[in-house]
Amino acid sequence: MEEYNIKTKVVGVDISNERTTYAIVDIRGNIIAEESFDTALYRDVNSFVTVLSEKIVTLVEANGGYETIRSIGVSAPSASSISGYIENATNLPWKGSVPLAVMLRERIGLAVGMANDAHVSALGEYTFGSAHGMTNFIVISLGVGLGSCFFSRGSEHVGHRGFSGEFGHTCVEDHGRLCGCGHRGCLETYVGAKGIVKTAVEVMTSSDQASLMRNLEKLSPRTIAECCDKGDELAIEVYRQTGYKLGIGMANYASIVDPEAIILTGGISHAGQWLVDPTRESFEEHVFGNMRGKVKILTSKLDDRERDVLGASALAWSVPEYSLFK
Ligand SMILES: [Zn+2]
Repeated sequence: MEEYNIKTKVVGVDISNERTTYAIVDIRGNIIAEESFDTALYRDVNSFVTVLSEKIVTLVEANGGYETIRSIGVSAPSASSISGYIENATNLPWKGSVPLAVMLRERIGLAVGMANDAHVSALGEYTFGSAHGMTNFIVISLGVGLGSCFFSRGSEHVGHRGFSGEFGHTCVEDHGRLCGCGHRGCLETYVGAKGIVKTAVEVMTSSDQASLMRNLEKLSPRTIAECCDKGDELAIEVYRQTGYKLGIGMANYASIVDPEAIILTGGISHAGQWLVDPTRESFEEHVFGNMRGKVKILTSKLDDRERDVLGASALAWSVPEYSLFK
């Protein structure tokens, strides 16, 4: 009788504009081996996929071999789980439509599932993090851009083309700041990394008050939050304004989908109370009355990169098995 080989591991890949991280993850969510490299080193997507494939194969061969790997899950910005394409990613080196899932499958010979980074973050929170046990929740990733994913009855809402959750490009200020997408007043222009720096400059320009921010070599969400930690009033004001806008956006989102919780992830969420307190206040002020005081606003307890690799591994388990090597 032919014995069926049950595969107990998958590969999770997280592609961001800065780093590409890939890891072998076992069925219990243990990361067995993990490596990463600079995404921007490969301006041509063909050489990127070739290098990524070679590196994955080397890691797999050093950790039990091909026959133990079931499938691969990939997280990437502007990726569609429906088409398997990365489409017009603003912050990646490759422009236009890139059929990354198929390219990787052809080179490695295993099933590849791919989804938008915000969807994969939400899958990571659902499987291993703060959303464990919840069925209706929103995960918002706060970084250069703002992504989001809504889980309804335990599965992610992906939309007709796989691009749902462009929370950063919802309008919170008519005729407001110009966004990279071409519109004005998008939430991202106030709450994304560049938007927070812009608010800091505005706050400093409109006041004569002393501020530690005036002496910073580089204004960034992180350095501004460090000024807040030292009690700097203008820095606290920057996050107050940021949280006010974010709270409006989240209240609109929650009023439509009625979530149990909203989980904030990504670099900007590390500002902690300086961001979360004014966000919660604005959220409660703007959300529909039946939900007031009832929606939990949480920050992720997972390391961002680890969560995204684990989320990609959860995605890998969800695709049908396929192998050229069986
Ligand atoms: Zn926009």
